[in-house]
Amino acid sequence: MEIKVLKDILNANNQIAEQNRQLLTSKHVMAINLMSSPGSGKTTLIMRTVEQLKSRARIAVIEGDVSSSIDAEKLGQVGITAVQINTGGGCHLDASMVNSALASLPLDDIDILFIENVGNLICPGGFDLGEYLRVVILSTPEGDDKPHKYPLLFSQANALVVNKTDLLPHVGFDMEAFVRVFQGLNQQAALFKVSGITGDGIEDWGEWVMINLQKLRTQNSTR
Ligand code: MG
Ligand code: ZN
Repeated sequence: MEIKVLKDILNANNQIAEQNRQLLTSKHVMAINLMSSPGSGKTTLIMRTVEQLKSRARIAVIEGDVSSSIDAEKLGQVGITAVQINTGGGCHLDASMVNSALASLPLDDIDILFIENVGNLICPGGFDLGEYLRVVILSTPEGDDKPHKYPLLFSQANALVVNKTDLLPHVGFDMEAFVRVFQGLNQQAALFKVSGITGDGIEDWGEWVMINLQKLRTQNSTR
């Protein structure tokens, strides 16, 4: 019985996700679903990426949080268009929440839409939001064993960003072992090692985002 209920929820979610995808495609917006634990540095990564790409792409953000609008305000203060979704206790974003947020964004004036999911490495992986790309962020203090523990999220990612590389000398994160395990789960994903604090590695990551935007534009123009 419980399994049936969960299936119905996911089917309903997938239908709305498909509507989101069609809307975003028709507006030529590339949505990137950013997933990670709390405190991995998603908001800082977004700010760094905007800094790098703002002359080449118009970027907006949907901020998902259990409560508060601290992150959206932080982005707003530096001039980034951000819409806050509070899940009211819910531990992931779903497609209908994103659907309402899309209604309040100027989609004609956006090229890249970052969707900052609720900090959680488990159920966000089960909920399609209608995004074009899925990116997982893992910060080095969380440990190199996370792909073992949360294989679903890591196996679905189009890219993995290892953040807080500036802390590597202090946290005992075995990068070699980590990369081996991650690539065992996911051979396709791009892998970036960055520091949101020093800016190290951000350029390569930003270029990957731009390459994908270019790819999407080519797909749109040949459609
Ligand atoms: Mg945040
Ligand atoms: Zn959840």
